[in-house]
Amino acid sequence: MIEPVALWPPERQHALKRLRAFVPQAGHLYAKQRYFDFGPGKHGKVSRLSPWLRHRVITEQEVLKTTLDSHTQTEAEKFIQEVFWRGYFKGWLEHRPDVWRYYKSDLVELTDRLEKEAGLARQYETATSGETGIACFDAWATELVETGYLHNHARMWFASIWIFTLKLPWQLGADFFYRHLLDGDPASNTCSWRWVGGLHTIGKTYLARADNIEKFTAGRFSPREQLASTAIALEDNRPVQLLAPKFNNAELEGRRFGLLVTEEDCHPESLGVSNPSSILILLTATPRSVLPLGKLSAEFAPSVLNASRGRIEKHFCVETITTEENDWSIAISEWMRENDLKVCVTSHLPLGPVAKRVKSAARASGVELIERTRAYDQLTWRHAKKGFFGLKKKIPSILADLNLRAHG
Ligand SMILES: Cc1cc2nc3c(=O)[nH]c(=O)nc-3n(C[C@H](O)[C@H](O)[C@H](O)COP(=O)(O)OP(=O)(O)OC[C@H]3O[C@@H](n4cnc5c(N)ncnc54)[C@H](O)[C@@H]3O)c2cc1C
Repeated sequence: MIEPVALWPPERQHALKRLRAFVPQAGHLYAKQRYFDFGPGKHGKVSRLSPWLRHRVITEQEVLKTTLDSHTQTEAEKFIQEVFWRGYFKGWLEHRPDVWRYYKSDLVELTDRLEKEAGLARQYETATSGETGIACFDAWATELVETGYLHNHARMWFASIWIFTLKLPWQLGADFFYRHLLDGDPASNTCSWRWVGGLHTIGKTYLARADNIEKFTAGRFSPREQLASTAIALEDNRPVQLLAPKFNNAELEGRRFGLLVTEEDCHPESLGVSNPSSILILLTATPRSVLPLGKLSAEFAPSVLNASRGRIEKHFCVETITTEENDWSIAISEWMRENDLKVCVTSHLPLGPVAKRVKSAARASGVELIERTRAYDQLTWRHAKKGFFGLKKKIPSILADLNLRAHG
């Protein structure tokens, strides 16, 4: 087993170091080599920045800036587009809270079925413990649990085999990923599983093929005769409302407020906020599902928050308060009361369990909650109403709006 802490130390300096080390190959090399999955510990052809990006230990804007300091937009086109896929999925889901709601309620139903239906439970257990007999799939199930990471291509193959070969419900597979990935994200994960199953681009599925796996695992696996030969798109006809995300960047000048730091954004220094009266850091790992969080992901979010503490204190010149209290209503209301605060400022909380818990805690304690949205998110999400193409053609103008231009 590979030691995951060594791969993703929680401190920001390691994320920046990885970024700087990766950038020289973010141009043509990335475009050429990014599909290759050489196996655990050998994922150096891709950046492996996702666990830090997920918790915003570093931001997309920083990654794009560092990339454009060394490459033209054309040279690094593929890498830049991949970075934007994250914002695209986030924006797409923000426009469709129903999709997240259905996923969660389906999961409650399915976990209930796991308790009642021995056949389904056996199949699920076989798949998640890597005992299907499909060597590549079993290796990826093990790698996911043991390292908290999978290469993008492996994620695509795995999801496809789960849905079309093993014929298991996609939501249970998405949940297995979400609970174990260090970068587990409500939007990127749910939307990617839906994309593989043909629910995102309606009718367009992703079929894992043995020759493709053989080529891009450099011959490590060859699941011939073991995989489904067709992928018929899943269907979901439930109504989905399209809602524009709301941004509340209320003026803070002259107001007394507390700053709340959650696992959604561990770099409040770049949030455009100054002079908080007090800072609370929520150190508990947020439950992601009715099933338990993987051991590594349960440790990762609290450890990045904890590692951010000194840095945040230094920047804001305020001593931080941390809490491991599971009931955030108690933690937040006590903090507000003890510090005589009426206004709580935090980063924009995208759909997911952190938003749900913080908003309900704020409501319960009568706190005014102000979520600051980063310019990157505002600029990106508004073009994420439909397909990725709509956002892709806006990338040059978004980069210009953010003042991100290639040097030289
Ligand atoms: C079934 C499935 C589930 C996934 N679940 C997640 C998830 O929970 N969290 C998550 O962050 N990504 C998820 N992805 C997207 C992608 O696989 C990972 O972001 C990527 O593998 C992370 O590795 P990297 O940092 O080396 O990526 P690189 O190739 O180096 O890309 C740089 C960054 O761009 C972003 N990115 C790249 N590809 C994608 C993509 N296809 N979609 C969204 N963002 C992307 C990531 O933030 C990544 O760190 C999923 C993909 C699939 C097919």
